[in-house]
Amino acid sequence: MDKFGYMEKFGYEQLCFFHDKYTGLKAITCIHNTVLGPSLGGTRFWNYANEEDAVEDVLRLARGMTYKSSLAGLALGGGKSVIIGDYRELRKDPIRREAFWRAFGRYIEGLNGRYITAEDIGTTTQDMVYVNMETTNVVGLPGRSGDPSPYTSLGAYKSIQACCEHVYGNSSVEGRTVTVQGVGQTGYYLCKLLYDNGAKLIVSDVSQERIDRVVEEFGAKVVDVNDIYSQECDIYSPCALGATVNDETIPQLKCKIVCGVANNVLKDAPVHAKALQDRGITYAPDYLANAGGVINVSYERAEGGYNEEAALRDIDRIYIRMKDILKISEETGQLTYETADKLAEERIKSVQNIRSILTTGRRS
Ligand code: NAD
Repeated sequence: MDKFGYMEKFGYEQLCFFHDKYTGLKAITCIHNTVLGPSLGGTRFWNYANEEDAVEDVLRLARGMTYKSSLAGLALGGGKSVIIGDYRELRKDPIRREAFWRAFGRYIEGLNGRYITAEDIGTTTQDMVYVNMETTNVVGLPGRSGDPSPYTSLGAYKSIQACCEHVYGNSSVEGRTVTVQGVGQTGYYLCKLLYDNGAKLIVSDVSQERIDRVVEEFGAKVVDVNDIYSQECDIYSPCALGATVNDETIPQLKCKIVCGVANNVLKDAPVHAKALQDRGITYAPDYLANAGGVINVSYERAEGGYNEEAALRDIDRIYIRMKDILKISEETGQLTYETADKLAEERIKSVQNIRSILTTGRRS
């Protein structure tokens, strides 16, 4: 991969490698864009097959965060970190674990507020507590905004309501059938909101324990993981994996709406968004539908500290944003993901234009 070429093409600002020989930390941070504010994105700890895979992942994820924060109306840019290694091994050694995460914290501190980190796959709140011993540029700490999953699910629920309003002329989910793929952290909370508001649930998961919970609590119907796509339903809600809307699954779908919390739902966005549109299926852009978590965590940085009420009000606005995107797309004939990208880019461009105004200081 020609890294500078790629960075130039997609407007990346910075890609940094960090190594600590005492703890074995190997981290890569990517700052995609800081026009709207400091970049924010979690730290993913993954046993990448090679460095090239880690770089590709951090580049892709950081750019995704720029779009997510922009469309969510946050004063934040996009960034991400990846750590190469086996987090299970590290957790077996508490002494090394603290030093490892504090080394990472010192490194984040060295970025001078241009990047704020958080939990992601393979990292825990305790890891972030260690990071916080060396830097304040970390969010998702205990006693503050807490687990992002219920907030992410709430944003997805608001998105489903916006889609229902657009498709059926009524935002209520009462009597609607929703297939939920994956009933883990976010899928569970989404099922609860849907059930509490009168929707019928069809679910799949590879974990029997998780399935049992939603059957018991919400009377969900269970289907095999391969049969979830072909169910008669109103809404298909992917809450497990990415790329589940693809050449193989689109012909099976019997829904009118695709809206869930998973990232990168469309395997190949231009191709599969068009295929959904051709079949008359409304696609809710994933990075808006799952923005509730980042909106909530961003309120840890608010003046006066975390304020749940304000965060919830902001998550509520996902409904209006989603409705606007669907309406603009219908009027312009654009695919919904194209409209979302365009709005996210326009906001960044417009704020970029004020950068020539002299200021005496800027809040970090
Ligand atoms: P999770 O690990 O708690 O839940 C995922 C669930 O999917 C698990 O129960 C797992 O057993 C199940 N699963 C795995 N493979 C499956 C398959 N083939 N078919 C059906 N189920 C399968 O994760 P989560 O936090 O709920 O996140 C779900 C998705 O949402 C991920 O793609 C994540 O990146 C995205 N997301 C999560 C958040 C958040 O706040 N947690 C925010 C934004 C995006």
